[in-house]
This record gives sequence, C-alpha cells and structure tokens, in this order.
Amino acid sequence: MKDIKSMTLAELTEDLAALGEPKFRAGQVYTWLHRGARNFDEMTNLSKALREKLAAQYELTCPTVARRLQSARDGTIKYLWRLSDGNCVESVLMRYHHGNTVCISCEVGCPMGCAFCASTRGGLVRRLRPSEMLDQVLFTQLDSGLPVSNIVLMGIGEPLDNYDTVLRFLQLVNSPEGMNIGMRHISLSTCGLVDKIDSLARQNLQLTLSVSLHAPTDEIRSGIMPINRRYNVETLLAACKRYFERTGRRISFEYAMIRGLNDTPEMADILIKKLRGIAAHVNLIPLNEVAESPLKPSYPDVVRAFQQRLEAHGIPATVRRTLGGDINASCGQLRRKYETETGKE
Ligand code: SAH
Repeated sequence: MKDIKSMTLAELTEDLAALGEPKFRAGQVYTWLHRGARNFDEMTNLSKALREKLAAQYELTCPTVARRLQSARDGTIKYLWRLSDGNCVESVLMRYHHGNTVCISCEVGCPMGCAFCASTRGGLVRRLRPSEMLDQVLFTQLDSGLPVSNIVLMGIGEPLDNYDTVLRFLQLVNSPEGMNIGMRHISLSTCGLVDKIDSLARQNLQLTLSVSLHAPTDEIRSGIMPINRRYNVETLLAACKRYFERTGRRISFEYAMIRGLNDTPEMADILIKKLRGIAAHVNLIPLNEVAESPLKPSYPDVVRAFQQRLEAHGIPATVRRTLGGDINASCGQLRRKYETETGKE
C-alpha cells in the first residue's frame, strides 16, 4: 500500500482524480494529513464511502510518544517516538528567542560510525520515510501546543545518506498547503558526503547547510570520523566552496571541542588557514560526554580562547549554548538508554 503522508499534493491530486474525485478533494485530504489526522475517519468533510475507499487503498501511520522529557532548566522537550514498526527515534523541541525549533531524526541508528556520537553505536537499523520525518514536526507541535517555526536535521542519522527521502520531506514541510515552513528556517547537517553535497547544491535550496567538520587535519578527522577516509578535509572544503558558489548560502561548520585533541591554538590556526576563502560560520560545541567513550569536553576557557582566535582572524564563531543537559537531550542518547533499559539490545 502507498504511504499517503509521503505523497505530494500533486501526486495525491492525480490519484484522487483517477478515483473520480473532484480536484479540491485532494486538498482536503492533504490538509487533514498535515494537521496530524490519525486516521481517515477523522476526515469528517469526506463521505464515509470515500473514507473507506482511502483506508483500503492507502497506509496512514502515526508515531506514538514512547517517552517525553521536559527540561526543568530551559523548557526543552525531548520526544522518543515509537514508529509503526516498533523502532524508536528522537526529536527535540528547543525554545529560542527567534522561535521554536525542532530537531528531527532521519534514520533509525546511523551508518557513519563517528567516534563521539551515541546515535551510531548500534549501526543503521533502517532509513525513515518522508512521512516519518514530517510526523516528528507535526506531532511535536501538536503534543507540545507550541508552534514550530524552525527545523534542524540534526537528530539521529545522516540526512544525505537518506537523500531522496530528505528532499521529499523538505518539499512536504515547505508546501504552502502543508506546514509551510520556509527553507531559510531549515538547517541540514551532514558529516560530509561530498557527492550528495554537490547534488544538494544543484537543487539550489535556500536552506542552511551545516557541515560537521570537528577537525581541520586528515589525521585527526579520520581518527574520529570514518567518512574522512572516503572524502578528506580538502575534498570536503572544496565541495563547501562549490555549494556556496551555487547557492550563495554561507556554510555553517560544526566543531565539537574535544579536550586535548582538536582544541589547541595550533588546531585553531590550521582551521583558520583552511577556511580562508570560504564563506563560513563556525559553531563550537563543547563535546557532550557519551557513555563508554574516552573523549572528554574541552574546558570552557579553552573553548573561549579558540573562539577568540577564530574571530581575531575574521572567522565568525559562536559557542553553542547547551540546552536540555538534564534530560539527555543530545544525539541518540535517549534512544540508547531506552533500548538498554527495555532490553532491546
Ligand atoms: N549525521 C549528521 C547529522 C547529525 S547532527 C552530521 O553528522 O552532521 C548532530 C551534530 O552533533 C553533528 O555535528 C555531530 O557531529 C554532533 N555530535 C554528535 N555527537 C556529539 C557529541 N557527543 N558531542 C557534541 N556533538 C556531537
């Protein structure tokens, strides 16, 4: 059966026309879906006969809340969703001055194997469908009662490893008849799949591309990010340049500060040299400690010094404020904890 919530309005219109329905009908169904209807019977402006026909022909799934944690410090809400096949993924709702931002997952687990990341510990289980990405935005908004204005693809999984699905998700969430979230309000983070960065550049979307750089030398980067053995720092940065030339969008580089590894003044100087000529913004993230990993976060004064060194050389750099530290709000931590507790692994 077709997954109806993964369909575009145009596709739905074509399908319903084949069923002999008038054109506006697809719009009605699409609106219900994008408001989070859980089944066809909720679609009360459709005839019972049509609702039954749709139910027989299409699959309509919704996640349920497996866990919901709210930070007492800053109101961040973390959701662990149970998908229709029993797998779980996480989303996080963060409340910023510029609006509520939801961070969503694109895969169950992750194949990329970064040493510091909790999401990849059990490898990739499966990729999500477009509807399962959309649902995280929809149901976070519905459950919390807070309007979502920004989306970041920085949860579990590698967006560019699920490329077609992610593009379709973007189309759905951006559609005027759906949630209508503007591309400029969406960020996509990648560990650096260069061929896909080039494909994305050709789409010329106005979203923000975040690149998880984390180290400016191949020696260190290959040690913590296996993808660097396929696409090294130089190849990656060249792709970032092309991306900017094509889209005019400045690249945001993520840099997790790891004590004694990538946080020295020498590393800052190499980074400065390599980013020369690239329209960049560097986001410094004090490493989140992950169980079973020997990597430690940099000391706060080291982070500040690193930031100042970049800034002194004209590279805009910010230190990311950590939210939800009291609720395991980052990267795959809750899913792992849950699976360990419920004996899924
Ligand atoms: N796969 C994509 C999306 C994940 S986004 C990517 O690699 O970009 C999550 C961001 O958090 C990435 O920049 C990732 O490298 C970073 N991250 C993962 N584990 C982390 C940790 N323990 N501490 C700080 N940042 C981490």
